[in-house]
Amino acid sequence: MAPTEELFRDDAALLACRATVLAHDDQGLVLDRTVFYPLGGGQAGDAGELLADDGTRLAIADTRKHPGHAGVVLHVVAPEADAALRAAFAPGTVVTARIDAARRRAHMRFHTATHLLCALVPHPVNGCSITAGYARLDFHTAEPLDKQALSEGIARLVAAAHPVRLRSISEAELDAQPELVRSMSVQPPRSGDPAGRVRLVEVEGVDLQPCGGTHVANTADIGPVIVTKVEKKSAMTRRVILGFAEPGVSPG
Ligand SMILES: [Zn+2]
Repeated sequence: MAPTEELFRDDAALLACRATVLAHDDQGLVLDRTVFYPLGGGQAGDAGELLADDGTRLAIADTRKHPGHAGVVLHVVAPEADAALRAAFAPGTVVTARIDAARRRAHMRFHTATHLLCALVPHPVNGCSITAGYARLDFHTAEPLDKQALSEGIARLVAAAHPVRLRSISEAELDAQPELVRSMSVQPPRSGDPAGRVRLVEVEGVDLQPCGGTHVANTADIGPVIVTKVEKKSAMTRRVILGFAEPGVSPG
């Protein structure tokens, strides 16, 4: 099966696209192209719906990387869809694929906020989970982290409205710019192929790291996000949990 064209990689703001059903079985449904982000890099998969041209709707509960085919995105059909409804989305059917915009927006806001956290906490990250309700980041450190100071740091970077950009760089270019690697909070993956491209996400002046997730275009779009909890998970792990703050409520 050919890899799915992943439209969200270059344009995270895209909410819908036209696509053709390539395969549909008990595991889920494969399209030739999609705006649905599959669970990965800590970020939850998208939900949404597929809309056939006759108005028939099929709810998508989640999105995963296909377990049997590299690069193929699997749209997980909501369990309430019956056999007749599923049959209306047979291979060859042309559909409009539309994500749940509110859920994705939350993922993008939290995901971008985790990049700010990486810039504020000078320790390696050894775990990450981003959902629509919260985000958590595990830092490898024995040092205590200050919840209030981190909330204030995030608020400052959100208010400063730093642009968020995608960059693509070859391993050879990375090697030629050691200062770039030093400025990164996460080391880029190495394929060993100097022509291999590395996708970088840059929060201008704040953070640079390899990342395949979806982000807002400017830190101002993160809005009010605060640290709701700092936990000592183990001797060498501090867990930071982010939540959305109600407008007008001060963090703390
Ligand atoms: Zn990211």
